[in-house]
Amino acid sequence: MGRKPVIAGNWKMHTLPSEGARLAADLARLLKEVDGVDVVIAPPYTHLSPVEQRIKSSPVKLAAQNLNANDFGAYTGEVSCPMLKELGCEYVIIGHSERRQYYGETDQSVNEKVQAAVSHNLIPILCVGETLDERESGRTLDVILSQLEGGLKGLSKESAMIIIVAYEPVWAIGTGKTATDEQAQEVHLFIRNSLSRLFDEGLSRAARILYGGSVKPENIDGLMTQPDIDGALVGGASLKAEIFERIVKFKKG
Ligand code: PEP
Repeated sequence: MGRKPVIAGNWKMHTLPSEGARLAADLARLLKEVDGVDVVIAPPYTHLSPVEQRIKSSPVKLAAQNLNANDFGAYTGEVSCPMLKELGCEYVIIGHSERRQYYGETDQSVNEKVQAAVSHNLIPILCVGETLDERESGRTLDVILSQLEGGLKGLSKESAMIIIVAYEPVWAIGTGKTATDEQAQEVHLFIRNSLSRLFDEGLSRAARILYGGSVKPENIDGLMTQPDIDGALVGGASLKAEIFERIVKFKKG
């Protein structure tokens, strides 16, 4: 059986809760007949409840943008898996480059979050990606491998089975620059082969690997024709309902 594509929208810290609720209602309406693709949106924490109310009768699923690896405790300002689960989250983005860059997330903290998510049956969307400097100095694949090894450390094959990996070259995020279809495919294939080495071939063949970095209606179709690209993690273009709809309704081949 083929891998079911996933199109996930990362709203980052955009929209007011009321605006997010309207965007979610529009998406629920535009995407109500969508079939054969998992559609996920990740609004800010403050929007989760109103957004969940708008999408609950639609195929659109809810994600958080982050989590704290502890369930409860004295961690001011943090939000945990049981809290996200109760609000209807099924997915969670982990290790986004903005969190690594601005909030000091490391492969170790990313790994703790991945472990927490899988133990609560929240599907992690584990983000990996190289900076421009790392790409230009020929270190892309080394960086990706160490982020994968670090982020997935200690996971059993059974728990790793649900994980989604998002390849997001840092130089392509929010910059308007997209990796070419071939550049993205090369890294996706490398990720799949690495998953085979870290776990096994069955897992690597089943794993869904998303591309992220300035995905838009103009480039989604080309990206989705690549054999190892199973979907997209979309930032800016997920904030306009019709634009995100077009990405979700990509044309393959
Ligand atoms: C992202 O935030 O994950 C992302 C890929 O952003 P953008 O699509 O805006 O580049």
